[in-house]
Amino acid sequence: MLSCDVAIIGAGTAGMAALRKLKDTGLQVLMIDPEFRGTTCANTGCMPSKLIIAAAEAAHMARSATVFGVEAEPRIDGAAVMARVRKLRDEFASGTQNTLMDMTDGIRLQSRARFIGPNQLQLDDGRQVTAQRIIIATGSDPMLPGPYQALSDLCLTNETVFEIPDLPRSLAVIGAGPIGVELAQSFARLGVDVALFDTGSTVAGLSDRAVSDALADALRLEFPVHLDVTPEPRRAGDQVELSWGTDPSKRFDRVLVATGRPPNLDGLDLETTGLQLDDHGTPVFDPETLQCGDAPIFLAGDANAARPLLHEASSEGAIAGANAASWPDLGDATRMEPLAITFTRPNAATIGQVPQPGCATTVTGSADYTDQGRAKVEARAHGLLRIYADRHKGRILGASLAAPDGEHLAHLLAWAISAGMTASQMLDLPFYHPTVEEGLKSALRDICKATASPVTWSRDNGQPSGA
Ligand SMILES: Cc1cc2nc3c(=O)[nH]c(=O)nc-3n(C[C@H](O)[C@H](O)[C@H](O)COP(=O)(O)OP(=O)(O)OC[C@H]3O[C@@H](n4cnc5c(N)ncnc54)[C@H](O)[C@@H]3O)c2cc1C
Repeated sequence: MLSCDVAIIGAGTAGMAALRKLKDTGLQVLMIDPEFRGTTCANTGCMPSKLIIAAAEAAHMARSATVFGVEAEPRIDGAAVMARVRKLRDEFASGTQNTLMDMTDGIRLQSRARFIGPNQLQLDDGRQVTAQRIIIATGSDPMLPGPYQALSDLCLTNETVFEIPDLPRSLAVIGAGPIGVELAQSFARLGVDVALFDTGSTVAGLSDRAVSDALADALRLEFPVHLDVTPEPRRAGDQVELSWGTDPSKRFDRVLVATGRPPNLDGLDLETTGLQLDDHGTPVFDPETLQCGDAPIFLAGDANAARPLLHEASSEGAIAGANAASWPDLGDATRMEPLAITFTRPNAATIGQVPQPGCATTVTGSADYTDQGRAKVEARAHGLLRIYADRHKGRILGASLAAPDGEHLAHLLAWAISAGMTASQMLDLPFYHPTVEEGLKSALRDICKATASPVTWSRDNGQPSGA
């Protein structure tokens, strides 16, 4: 039987951020995790996925160089691609693991926890922990929907895909969310025969249909994207045969299932806490304090499913840690503007608030990246960017984009929104020529026009060549 002031369940990004806030408070903290393997981000998330995207980009650049009059036919060594992914991934993971080991020295309990009361935890190894305050930071886990469970030996998820020794010949990707589209495009660019499927009609989590369509059009130049379909899988020897819609069925060596990562709360026996649970079994929590009801229990990171992104997990861990330390006095955190980026080419992003179609209080400005100077120069002219602003003053509220170097545009927009800028204030800033940033100007000008916002008299309203 152990007791402490604060127990942190989960030693991932959110849990470590919470621990950093608690370290020098004098409170007695215990951190519980069955593996202490470092973060999902480093092991099976952000970093290995970006590594495979980087390899795919190299192959694509070589293959598409012919458009510039440069001939280069890439020969892809799949085993070498995956070996580099794992080598660098292991370096990133061991970095987080070393930090974790240093931070948790003396407070580490290597076990899986579940609740047996509002402030009591049962560990898998038989020990029990009584804690005055508890932070749940258990992350999320991949899931295999029903029809794929019997085919699990032929299915991959983000937990297994980076472990494959070589590239498969063919790959069906189920789920066109951020993880699915990033990996589908990467494997396609590495020469794998890829097809992407989703039951919904949009890709990369983009709720703006026009922007999603622009991204889907760009992706379809590289591999088939089947939306609004529910493929039915069946085993065909050592392959999976998928049938969908009216198209003929097709066999794939492997199926990558990327249908979402539900919060990892199932095994926590949360019903013993007396917390109010929503329809999905997630405790009802305050997004500004992360407190669950009135209990001294806090829910941070992917575990609350609100903003399942690395920078949010880290910020939520900090909020939960600080509030666990100061409980029962709690601070209301000012949350960051939403920012979600998908590293497809073109990059996709959603920033701030996306209004419902036809919303009467907002105006929308657009920039077409199929006809943008710098994007054309580099043979990357794909995509669409839309900025939403309030109809009254032209203040920027949000944006959706699928655009070359969109990850950088998304940051500029997120920072402008955070600073409360209007379209005319953004237009007043310097735009270098020729850059993809210049594409923003046409969207900002649309907004100024629609809101009759003033444009500084000393700025030229013209278009330099190719802007
Ligand atoms: C393929 C992929 C790509 C991604 N790419 C990006 C990206 O480019 N950018 C981005 O911002 N985000 C990305 N993400 C999301 C990002 O990785 C997550 O949002 C982030 O890692 C969540 O951190 P966390 O602390 O909530 O969870 P985790 O880091 O998963 O930590 C949860 C911890 O809880 C432990 N745990 C679980 N149950 C228990 C229990 N019962 N008892 C004790 N411990 C328990 C686990 O062992 C784990 O250590 C990606 C995710 C994936 C899968």
